[in-house]
Amino acid sequence: MSTSTARFTHLNPGFICENCQREVQPLKVGCRNHCPFCLHSKHVDRFPGDRDNPCQGLMEPIAYEFNGKKGLTLVFKCKECGGMGKNKAAHEDEVQADSYELILKLNKPKS
Ligand SMILES: [Zn+2]
Ligand SMILES: [Zn+2]
Repeated sequence: MSTSTARFTHLNPGFICENCQREVQPLKVGCRNHCPFCLHSKHVDRFPGDRDNPCQGLMEPIAYEFNGKKGLTLVFKCKECGGMGKNKAAHEDEVQADSYELILKLNKPKS
């Protein structure tokens, strides 16, 4: 992955969660775009990581998926525009792990 050619390839700042107002630290590996405490995200990407979406709506976690390659993935739905998004769960992060309890309360995978 390059950090110089694409503008937003490696943007990975911490942020304040707009749902629960807690401070979220950046991930050491990968791009966190959801809150580990309440699992809410923000509609900022048109494609994962591009931060190019003008919507900026709050995204509610609605389900999780389990994929052999990617592992645990959360599925979000935007409260503003209804758009869907996915993000890899960070429940194994050393600094601020996603709440596994909350993840398991979401809709279970269908398969
Ligand atoms: Zn939150
Ligand atoms: Zn949206």
